[in-house]
Amino acid sequence: MASDGDQTVYKPLGLLAELTHRCPLGCPYCSNPPALDRRDDELDAVTWARVFREAAALGVLQVHLSGGEPGARRDLVEIVAAARTAGLYSNLITSGVGLTTATLGKLADAGLDHVQISIQDSIAASADKIAGYDGAFARKNALGREVVRLGLPLTINVVVHRANIERIPDMVDRALALGATRVEIAHAQYYGWALKNRAALMPRRDQVERAAVQVEDLRRLHQGRIVIDAVVPDYYARFPKPCVGGWGRRSLNVTPSGRVLPCHAAESITGLEFWNVRDRALADIWMNSPACRAFRGTDWMPEPCASCSRRDIDFGGCRCQAFALTGNAAATDPVCQFSPAHHLVADLAADQADVPYDYRRQITRAALAKADTA
Ligand code: SF4
Ligand code: SF4
Repeated sequence: MASDGDQTVYKPLGLLAELTHRCPLGCPYCSNPPALDRRDDELDAVTWARVFREAAALGVLQVHLSGGEPGARRDLVEIVAAARTAGLYSNLITSGVGLTTATLGKLADAGLDHVQISIQDSIAASADKIAGYDGAFARKNALGREVVRLGLPLTINVVVHRANIERIPDMVDRALALGATRVEIAHAQYYGWALKNRAALMPRRDQVERAAVQVEDLRRLHQGRIVIDAVVPDYYARFPKPCVGGWGRRSLNVTPSGRVLPCHAAESITGLEFWNVRDRALADIWMNSPACRAFRGTDWMPEPCASCSRRDIDFGGCRCQAFALTGNAAATDPVCQFSPAHHLVADLAADQADVPYDYRRQITRAALAKADTA
């Protein structure tokens, strides 16, 4: 912890390294931004190695190698080896598609510490439909088995929404069958592509309440066999979650082209200035960049947060959600029952429609910029 004039700056503990936005799948809840980074804009492995060294010097202990699909990088083994050399615990977050078993073996040899594979459902046809990719279910299962065979710890990620919420117990069974030691159950967060698909993804209140009871039952049933972590959905909560443990406080995110974000959805807030690891050292960016400083601490808070006893517990909730729902990133998260905009959340939760998914597509920033100027 250090004091930088008006702000207390903590050491970040986790780095989310988005190695690429490329992905063979098209999940309608993908948290990648609607405008994706281009392949020829991606940081090279040498730059990632420098970022990892600087992150370790800053206090980071864990690097989450994510995307898109990190398996799309031909230099992934080199990147994993660089994380090991920097002394970071490395966690590969993969769709399970686009990564061969041969590459997985090389990653293990290079020092990979942990693997997370996302599954879309316990039924193959539904899972493939949600992923927008025929055969995804089978490939994920095969890769999961290989992770365990190699002796790497495996976590199964499940993003919950209306199409799969009734099968949480079956998805936990799937994780157990694969030999996973942990399952992470997170309801879809409505920004990025999920915001476009909110009406199609939003579960009903009765489904969410039943799911919460099921998770508690599953924890009791499987105690000692698998760890079940679950994130409560915002839209049916009374208080917001402490989003990313507080803005610019404990974690940071580096995009494929090197922009440093305090949280992975921060680019959804217009008007923030993000600095790039191509131009500056990570410590300088963490301490001084306008984006990292924007909502650090509690001085920026309006009422009711400013005088609330929970302000150091939930940090006023999610800035991206506040921006998405009110147009003001400094507003109290509308999920909070004390927010003057709380009624918006109930209205949006009720807005459900069985419409086709708008699947994540490879729309690049360059293509969007061109369209804007045409
Ligand atoms: S959420 Fe789906 S589409 Fe997005 S990066 Fe992950 S696997 Fe790919
Ligand atoms: S008023 Fe602000 S600090 Fe208090 S519970 Fe709501 S979001 Fe959290």
